[in-house]
Amino acid sequence: MMGKEPLRLCSNEVFEDMEHEVRKAVEALLTRIEGRTAMDETLAPLTSFRVGGTAAVLVEPVSEADLEVTAEIIKLTGMEVLMLGKGSNLLVSDAGFPGVVVRMAKGFEQIREVNSSSVEAGAGTSLPQLANWAARRGLTGMEFAVAIPATVGGAVAMNAGAHGADLSGVLESVRVCSLVEGRFSEVPARSLEMGYRSAFLGEGNLVCAAKFALTPGDREEILDRMRQYRTHRADTQPAKAPNAGSTFKNPDGSTAGGLIDAAGLKGFEVGAAQVSHRHGNFVLAGTGATAQDVFDLMAHVQSVVLKSTGVTLLPEVRIVGEFERSSSLIVS
Ligand SMILES: Cc1cc2nc3c(=O)[nH]c(=O)nc-3n(C[C@H](O)[C@H](O)[C@H](O)COP(=O)(O)OP(=O)(O)OC[C@H]3O[C@@H](n4cnc5c(N)ncnc54)[C@H](O)[C@@H]3O)c2cc1C
Repeated sequence: MMGKEPLRLCSNEVFEDMEHEVRKAVEALLTRIEGRTAMDETLAPLTSFRVGGTAAVLVEPVSEADLEVTAEIIKLTGMEVLMLGKGSNLLVSDAGFPGVVVRMAKGFEQIREVNSSSVEAGAGTSLPQLANWAARRGLTGMEFAVAIPATVGGAVAMNAGAHGADLSGVLESVRVCSLVEGRFSEVPARSLEMGYRSAFLGEGNLVCAAKFALTPGDREEILDRMRQYRTHRADTQPAKAPNAGSTFKNPDGSTAGGLIDAAGLKGFEVGAAQVSHRHGNFVLAGTGATAQDVFDLMAHVQSVVLKSTGVTLLPEVRIVGEFERSSSLIVS
């Protein structure tokens, strides 16, 4: 369990606008949360791009009781809520997020064998850790996930996938907390309408845990497949600079990386953000990069590819908060 940090004075404009009493009430509610809480907390270190501003409130719940209190805060303030896992698919604006960020980590990291072919993992569990756990027990189905730097919750929300498989192929059900109503429910995977890098969870709904159906298989073959996937990744993807994996979704019939490469954009830079020389669909946030640099680079790439091919590349990376010239990037 993480140690509790003292609340810092919050400069976020949301709180400047708020009634003094409301702010006091929020502070009082935060003291009832066992996990780490903070106000005006910098989100950059909590995302793989390592850029972006602060969250008005950050909660790292360690129990469902903590989530109930978080729901009270949201109800009281009407603030927006953002679910956060490892932040490996998020671009948070330099202005930050003027709401409550709920980060699933410690306290929601347990893996439990339900029966010989079914496993339940907390939303904060690392996906590669779950894949390795399954492999050690000779269970097949999770190999594809071995090098996706996700939490289970973030992977469900994104229907993360690789090597021709994705989470929808193994997901049975999820335990969901409505942070709007403070209610918990079990939701079968089929209700999530999972598609290519998408799942329908509904507004304010947080994945607390997920159940997966796996199949007994040959342990050595499973481990070998995972080794191959790791090697393939090391051979094809940039390892060093902060990034969020694939920036754009692959359009029907082609790959985003191929189109970006054909448009001559590899190595193109805006500020300290750069299209990777190694993989056209990776945007790298170099030293000193701002979220706005990354955003502007994405908008430029999208516009050049649209002009040269007629294809609109839609971001796979989720955009959080306000950016300058927001309309220059088409997000859906
Ligand atoms: C080097 C690298 C390689 C990558 N390779 C792949 C790959 O091969 N395949 C792939 O699919 N992705 C890949 N990604 C992208 C990323 O890892 C996935 O999208 C992953 O699913 C994000 O998980 P996360 O826990 O980091 O979620 P976050 O980035 O924190 O959040 C992503 C989305 O999920 C929501 N979310 C997070 N947690 C919860 C929760 N508990 N309940 C409800 N909603 C939640 C967030 O609000 C957000 O909308 C890669 C990223 C990097 C940096």
